[in-house]
Amino acid sequence: MAELVFFSGTMDCGKSTLALQMDHNHRARQRVGLIFTKLDRMGESVLSSRLGLSTHAHEVTDDLDFWDVVVEHLTHGQRADYLICDEAQFFTGAQIEQLARIVDELGIDVTCFGITADFRTELFPGSKRLFELADRVQVLQVAALCWCGARATHNARIIDGVMVVEGEQVVVGDTASASDSLVEYEVLCRRHYMRRMNSHAARLASATPDVLPFDLDVCAVPPRG
Ligand SMILES: [Zn+2]
Repeated sequence: MAELVFFSGTMDCGKSTLALQMDHNHRARQRVGLIFTKLDRMGESVLSSRLGLSTHAHEVTDDLDFWDVVVEHLTHGQRADYLICDEAQFFTGAQIEQLARIVDELGIDVTCFGITADFRTELFPGSKRLFELADRVQVLQVAALCWCGARATHNARIIDGVMVVEGEQVVVGDTASASDSLVEYEVLCRRHYMRRMNSHAARLASATPDVLPFDLDVCAVPPRG
């Protein structure tokens, strides 16, 4: 039975590396697949991992219809045994429904990879629909760590070094935005997410002797330097 599977996690949890590994494993078994991604950090039509691997992928736009793309592919006599979709958090709810239909009516395995929640801790639309429709959801717990060493569970948006919790849902990181601010993302544990204490703020706090964390017993002192 074909399945719709969602591998979900924070940033830096190794999703894209796993997506590439999965594609490799399928191909080693002579299976033929289609790869999709959206807003990959390396640019359009490429699926890349932080470890430096990459492969060609179809770029997903809001008006792309997965059903049409796959049916056309098959109509031209080409094979498709599986679909791998990275950055699926950015897909629309309707696109996730198209993927479910591909599984059910064409018998093609669809594996999606994506970030669960945005920098406000709210589910991305694609992730939400996947949680609702997927046959299986697997939460990736690959060692994404907060600066304090605890397991990182939340994505924080940092603008010019300061953590923010309001703003547009999708702003690609490491780029100067319209206001020429530097937008970055950092994974944090829930405690430090709730305290708005990203690594930069923690370093500042540790460098200022008269601003001590108010509860040293539960809040790790950030490493100096
Ligand atoms: Zn932490």
